[in-house]
Amino acid sequence: MTASASGTLYVVATPIGNLDDLSPRAVRTLESVALVAAEDTRHSARLLQHLGLHIPLLSLHEHNEAGRVDQLFDRLAQGDDLALISDAGTPLICDPGFVLVRELRQRGARVVPIPGPCALIAALSAAGLPTDRFLFAGFLPAKEGARRTRIQALSEHEETLVFYESPHRIHASLASFDALLGERRLVLARELTKTFETFLEGTAAQLLGRMAEDPNQSRGEFVIMVAGAPAQISETTTLDAQALLSALLEEGVGVKQAAAVVARLMGGRKRDWYEQALALKGGN
Ligand code: SAM
Repeated sequence: MTASASGTLYVVATPIGNLDDLSPRAVRTLESVALVAAEDTRHSARLLQHLGLHIPLLSLHEHNEAGRVDQLFDRLAQGDDLALISDAGTPLICDPGFVLVRELRQRGARVVPIPGPCALIAALSAAGLPTDRFLFAGFLPAKEGARRTRIQALSEHEETLVFYESPHRIHASLASFDALLGERRLVLARELTKTFETFLEGTAAQLLGRMAEDPNQSRGEFVIMVAGAPAQISETTTLDAQALLSALLEEGVGVKQAAAVVARLMGGRKRDWYEQALALKGGN
């Protein structure tokens, strides 16, 4: 069998709330396939019903995905076109499908994306945080120790950090962010494309405060976005900035104030300049 003789697996993004977000191309694709592999067939049956489509559904979730590969490859080899959808948004993005797509590609099958809704992209597009580079880190671990270790490991990244979170763990995650990145600016996108869509902005402590005032703010689905770490002291500015730091100290400015002035004028973190100022003082 050659790849060109086989059918195509279409990876189709579906709405994350608002059904109008299903693209005309996604609808045409779903209409055209012989079988739809879906994370939760009962959930997806409602979407197909809404579209007036009567296409066979096959369950494909994290527990049976590897076992479905042969079956789906056989269908493609027979020339059938297939679709993969998840409960919401883009398949494979914190959803099943990676094993299937990897295996089918390895076997030379054609896999085609039908792009559309994705919670992290929708959230970033309206949050007002830098998006030229970002780091999507999926869900944080459920256990506090592992969660803190993960946040710590990401804390020095200068890119905007993006996480998915459920209503069960939103408080715990915000509490961990508060403990480890207390001053950092966060944007919380909730219930995107749905009736109660909300964007909240502030430190983790401020967001927890908003939730305490209004318990509705803890309901629904969340994307947590965290401003990246302030830029590290760059090599090109180090010399000038260090000269400024030394000059301030020589003029009798206190260590803390000198560090604050250098951070403000030259960039970098106050804490780092403070440590350098202490070292310079110690060396005198
Ligand atoms: N594949 C999906 C996508 O493309 O965004 C993500 C699936 S993941 C299992 C589910 C998580 O995505 C939720 O816990 C939440 O963090 C996020 N999410 C999904 N829909 C959302 C929405 N309407 N508003 C905010 N976050 C959402």
